[in-house]
Amino acid sequence: MTEGFNIQRDEKTDSRHNLTWHMMEINRQKREKQMQQKAFTIWMSGLSGAGKSTIANALEKRLYAMGKKTMLLDGDNVRMGLNSNLGFSDEDRVENIRRIAEVAKLMNDAGLIVITAFISPYRHDRENAKQIIGDGFREVYVSTSIEECEKRDVKGLYKAAREGKIAQFTGITSPYEIPEHADVVVDTAEMDVETCVNHILEQLKSLLRESV
Ligand code: ADP
Repeated sequence: MTEGFNIQRDEKTDSRHNLTWHMMEINRQKREKQMQQKAFTIWMSGLSGAGKSTIANALEKRLYAMGKKTMLLDGDNVRMGLNSNLGFSDEDRVENIRRIAEVAKLMNDAGLIVITAFISPYRHDRENAKQIIGDGFREVYVSTSIEECEKRDVKGLYKAAREGKIAQFTGITSPYEIPEHADVVVDTAEMDVETCVNHILEQLKSLLRESV
């Protein structure tokens, strides 16, 4: 671990590593004011095939149509780029989520509303993401059951996992820890995409309306 990067945000220095946090003049508040929006992160979690990417895409389209400045960080896309050196071991999953949270935080600092769509199966990692991102962290649990996800098997991954071809597959051979205090819960077996998006927007409306 590169522990030097674990410094608290409000610390101005990390003398162990000769690091100093520079306070820049164009800060998050100024960027938010210029963009006329409150920056925050919508963190979507749930099993593979639960509907995270589909809802994230539809949600971003709605926010875009509302004139919001957004960025979407999606599981496979990030794993094919920024995190292409990471696998699915416990250690790599932790690092995957840590990097995504740091990127989301940077994008929030740039004034953007960020949507993330990652399985993020471990409560501890989501807590860590919340710590990194801060006040603007909102957790959306896509609660679609394993039975429904496996029935869909969009990418054929459940079949491969059942056949023992994928090690540590979430929901089959690796745990998914259900969020206990999610800000929003949507079950895509019961709600269509539009209903899910409407529900998320309704639950987050105070943040979306917040004047800056
Ligand atoms: P994830 O990103 O969670 O792995 P995906 O969005 O890639 O899931 O896949 C979800 C699948 O479920 C898609 O094929 C999508 O069309 C389907 N689906 C059916 N109903 C819904 C719904 N209400 N919301 C989202 N996806 C749905």
